[in-house]
Amino acid sequence: MDLPQYAYFKGAIVPYAEAKVGVLTHALNYGTGVFGGVRAYKNDENGKLYLFRPYDHYRRFLNSCKMMLMEFDETPESLTQLTIDLLKKSGFSEDVYIRPLAYKSSEMIGVKLHDVEADFSIVALPFGKYVANDTNAHVTISSWRRLDDNVIPARGKISGAYANSAFIKTDAMRSGFDEALVLTQAGHLSEGSAENVFIVRDGVMITPSVTENILEGITRRSVMELAAAELGMEVVERPIDRTEVYICDELFMTGTAAQVTAITKVDHRPVGNGEMGPVAAKLRDLFFDIVRAKNPKYSAWNIEV
Ligand code: PMP
Repeated sequence: MDLPQYAYFKGAIVPYAEAKVGVLTHALNYGTGVFGGVRAYKNDENGKLYLFRPYDHYRRFLNSCKMMLMEFDETPESLTQLTIDLLKKSGFSEDVYIRPLAYKSSEMIGVKLHDVEADFSIVALPFGKYVANDTNAHVTISSWRRLDDNVIPARGKISGAYANSAFIKTDAMRSGFDEALVLTQAGHLSEGSAENVFIVRDGVMITPSVTENILEGITRRSVMELAAAELGMEVVERPIDRTEVYICDELFMTGTAAQVTAITKVDHRPVGNGEMGPVAAKLRDLFFDIVRAKNPKYSAWNIEV
């Protein structure tokens, strides 16, 4: 992976090589960081880059900071502006992924959240697909369990919680799967290692509720709105049993990195007829047009760089 040229670090845009922390940094030792993942897409008709829902991403980011007792004099708007400044300085003219990170920056020993200094950084880099087989993914149900809200809240997008995602993803990939779905301690479907999940049963689109130890995804919220408004579908949030995944008509995942990824096989069982279904296909078409600022109805989601 090519490293970025610039980073926003300690209050300024600096060459990426200068964006470094010491090994005693609290977040590096204890996982006390929180992060975000935002994409900017290029519209190939006018050549411009557009951030997708950055205010929503930064609202969630600041809420994650709040949960971890990190306070910054920033707003979703100011963080979006910093991102635009960084993208302009970097001169990107392709699709990019943006990684804001807030971290406990004190170089010290001591496991706690209070009385520890915090800082934040932003980096951006060119980015394509995250899940290679995004129209025909084969996933497994992980033997790992999702972190519970009372262990490390998935809602908080907390760096340390991603050790859980890393266990899930690596075991899945080393067993030849594209990704894994993970269950809650109670045995309900939660999400993917870095994606929210949806099933379609009898024309109803169903996704685990926000109380199922999921990250409250921006892509999740977007496709829920699109399914209702554009496909006229009933969209339901409720607990989903494991075996519903084996008998559903369609299954797909959503995320900033994974976008809308159709799952066509789970643990060697075909989903529906074993091919990407019509709901996932239509949502993908809508989504890819919208993120590239080609659908004026949803232009409020596109922030020009
Ligand atoms: N769940 C997890 C665990 C994630 O890391 C992500 C990626 N941010 C998502 C869901 C999807 O969220 P979003 O659509 O906001 O990217």
